[in-house]
Amino acid sequence: MDTRHFVIIGNGPAGNEAAATLREHAPHVRITVIGQEHAIYYRPNLLPDFIAGRLSEDDLHVKPLDFYKEKNIKLRLGQKVIDVNFANREIVLEHKEVIRFDGLILATGGKPRIPEHLQVFEHLMLPLKTLPDAKAWIQKLQQIDSILIVGGDLTSLCFTKALLSMGKKVFFMIQGGAFWPVRFDADIHDSVSRALTKKGVEVIESENIKGITKISDNEIVVNTETRKLTVGAFGAFFGLMPDVKFLARSGLTIERGIIVDERLRTRFEGVYAAGDCAQVYHPGIRDYWVSIGYRNARNLGKVAALNLLGEQVTADVAAPGIFQFDEITVNTSWWTEF
Ligand SMILES: Cc1cc2nc3c(=O)[nH]c(=O)nc-3n(C[C@H](O)[C@H](O)[C@H](O)COP(=O)(O)OP(=O)(O)OC[C@H]3O[C@@H](n4cnc5c(N)ncnc54)[C@H](O)[C@@H]3O)c2cc1C
Repeated sequence: MDTRHFVIIGNGPAGNEAAATLREHAPHVRITVIGQEHAIYYRPNLLPDFIAGRLSEDDLHVKPLDFYKEKNIKLRLGQKVIDVNFANREIVLEHKEVIRFDGLILATGGKPRIPEHLQVFEHLMLPLKTLPDAKAWIQKLQQIDSILIVGGDLTSLCFTKALLSMGKKVFFMIQGGAFWPVRFDADIHDSVSRALTKKGVEVIESENIKGITKISDNEIVVNTETRKLTVGAFGAFFGLMPDVKFLARSGLTIERGIIVDERLRTRFEGVYAAGDCAQVYHPGIRDYWVSIGYRNARNLGKVAALNLLGEQVTADVAAPGIFQFDEITVNTSWWTEF
């Protein structure tokens, strides 16, 4: 009887693919998936369609709760991991419970990155990363007609498309920092600006926000170098950064993400990282690369699980984050810094 306990921190695509793979190849091990959100596994990349009313909440879900029961995978939702002790092979939950593991896969994804010059306005922004974020936007959009989007990453463009489909007025400030790792230049700016304008977005030709004042719950005044705008809400979209702060003192090597080799191994035996939180060695560029995206997260989750079970699978790291948004080719900035 195999009594090993494999724990996965993260209930997103990477974590779930890892859990399903472990169960498929190791029918008897104990598997626990921990997620800090209360929602069961959903597709974050479909949140703009959910906001636009094209999909219901049920449509976002990937697997029903019964799946976990059938597969004997313990799902612990609404539970946040606050520390990992790799020497003792223990993780600590926010409510102080300690869980022992024999193998661990870190799949904590990313969180929105707000550049320094906008952090002072963070309390006035609405983020879009999780299902609760999307629900907050849905509520807000029932009361407002205009939105200012600052950034230019993948989420900002998908979200803009959703807002336009709802008949909202969208102002857009394109910011170079949202296009990492591509060197932002006038050509990129012009092509994004043209495509947005063609769809009815009003592009604000200014890089700097001088001040933002909240007039009421549904009215915000934004002063740029060239314009004074009154909008109902405002969001900054500069990609994601790895959600690994709780691991900062754990002894793991962390740069833009958790450093792993091409087999997704961290420096601790039996501990792997997968998905948006991982910074993976890429033999092609002889460097570490953070590769984001839904499909990529699932692939890495699978590779981590197989290697945890003793196989020797190399991660197939996708070409640096090129995504298509209608006629625009964008390279997202989801990982500019840690
Ligand atoms: C609005 C939006 C649109 C997107 N559009 C696209 C797209 O069009 N195409 C595309 O390829 N990708 C898109 N993405 C990105 C894609 O969704 C992510 O790359 C993918 O979800 C990453 O999967 P992951 O499993 O690595 O992390 P996540 O999906 O972020 O999951 C991380 C999990 O870890 C949990 N977690 C984090 N910290 C802790 C902790 N301390 N304790 C317990 N649990 C924790 C979280 O609750 C979550 O369950 C989009 C993302 C968003 C938000």
